[in-house]
Amino acid sequence: MSRLVTAYIALGANLGDARATVRDALLALDGLPQTRLLRASGLYRTAPWEASGPDFINAVAAVETGLDAHELLRALQALELQAGRERPYRNAPRTLDLDLLLYGDAVIDAPELTVPHPRLRERAFVLVPLAEIAPALVTADELRAVADQAIERL
Ligand code: AMP
Repeated sequence: MSRLVTAYIALGANLGDARATVRDALLALDGLPQTRLLRASGLYRTAPWEASGPDFINAVAAVETGLDAHELLRALQALELQAGRERPYRNAPRTLDLDLLLYGDAVIDAPELTVPHPRLRERAFVLVPLAEIAPALVTADELRAVADQAIERL
């Protein structure tokens, strides 16, 4: 049995029935091999950030997994594809976006995977739901720094 690691994953969707997409993705995380969902934040609505299209629905999940970080990233990418994501251009509207925020206390700087996620602490749509499920991981100063970004808990 491999070592179990707690990982945090950001979920976002802004096309079609985005709420249903995010809820389904939370269930799908629990269905990944060697992985179970530990906690999920509520759903949040945010305006697009460096992206176009309708508002996003965002959430953050904590999972416990026996997958290594690269296996987990590939599993997340497979879920994105299953959700019908198409990427005609950078930051195009997407059906489902899954980002690996944290993988235990690992620091990874590989071509296809950077952990902690480099933009984790810049975005209210990540920090606010992360603070909901893991308050010790987010400081009050960090939340204040993104307080100008509109975010609504649904
Ligand atoms: P995005 O379009 O924002 O979903 O970015 C996807 C690309 O970012 C993929 O090519 C991934 O290999 C890469 N990437 C690097 N670090 C991460 C991470 N921590 N989580 C998700 N994707 C990552």
